[in-house]
Amino acid sequence: MKDYYAILGVSREASQEEIKKAYRRLALEYHPDRHPGDKAAEERFKEINEAYAVLSDPEKRARYDRGLLGTPEVSAEDLFDLFAQVFGLRREPVAPRGEDLEAQVEVELKDLLEGKEVEVAYTRLVPCEACGGQGGKRTACPTCGGRRVVESYHRSFFGTFVSRNACPHCKGRGFLLAETCAACRGRGRVPREERVRVSLPPGMDEGQLLRVPGYGNLGPGGPGDLYVRLRVKPHPYLERQGADLVYRLQIGLAQAALGTRVEVPGLSGPIPLDIPPGTGHGEVFELPGEGLPHPGGGRGALRVEVELSVPKRLSKRARELLRAYAAEVGENVAPEGFWDRLRGFFRK
Ligand SMILES: [Zn+2]
Ligand SMILES: [Zn+2]
Repeated sequence: MKDYYAILGVSREASQEEIKKAYRRLALEYHPDRHPGDKAAEERFKEINEAYAVLSDPEKRARYDRGLLGTPEVSAEDLFDLFAQVFGLRREPVAPRGEDLEAQVEVELKDLLEGKEVEVAYTRLVPCEACGGQGGKRTACPTCGGRRVVESYHRSFFGTFVSRNACPHCKGRGFLLAETCAACRGRGRVPREERVRVSLPPGMDEGQLLRVPGYGNLGPGGPGDLYVRLRVKPHPYLERQGADLVYRLQIGLAQAALGTRVEVPGLSGPIPLDIPPGTGHGEVFELPGEGLPHPGGGRGALRVEVELSVPKRLSKRARELLRAYAAEVGENVAPEGFWDRLRGFFRK
């Protein structure tokens, strides 16, 4: 009789956990792939597997302990099964989860300030009630016997490898439909309108996706996830640049030269802003903390970009005043009526 405890290097009182641990370590160490052509290692590997086959089975272990177990026959197939089972090489196929879905939600720019709870309407696939999600009357697939997979065996010098693939006959579903449900046309699922309340965090970006777990399509293995894509409606005055906001302020000639006080349409309300005398086109005033929330806390700035608005049409009196102004500061301007005469010249 071989001493299986000695082979695995464990005591006679070793727990199942200890035996399994010892086996994992030794099986990897003496795996034939690591010692190609080494007969001794191969023998050792077989011994290790034989020892584990006996000691991992409480009934066989008890009989072995009492000296009642004859030399067990361990086939190459058993060896592989054991090895694969311990190392998790064979996995039962899992029922697929439902697909992920994407829905869009549109919010105002100001909603990004404090975040917002929105209701998202979308459509997802749920089990058909008419057939209980079965798709109709099912019969077990004769090819895979309802197991959804077919196995093929590849022999190697130390055992047999099993590869599993989706059954081609039933396309991995495990059943065939003897009768097709009219409500879902055999699909087992039907579209349903859904509404879900989603809380949008402050400062989200345009196009950003928010994951709502469990709100995707329902599948046999559970639901997929819903991804909500954020769309921000264009604001009439403000443009977003990251966490900053940009406002283009139009001021007139006199305002630029003499200064003025304006109100900037901030996200939370109008903000007074003093434009000092002598402000030029393209000058920028920054209002810190009036932008959008940063992901790391705090808020960006509201940048006010000055655009000088030059009047296209002037009253006679405004023209006179501007001429007087030009004369005062020595600017050379076209004389009164010059442009009318020029237009008249070209019309002839
Ligand atoms: Zn099948
Ligand atoms: Zn149905």
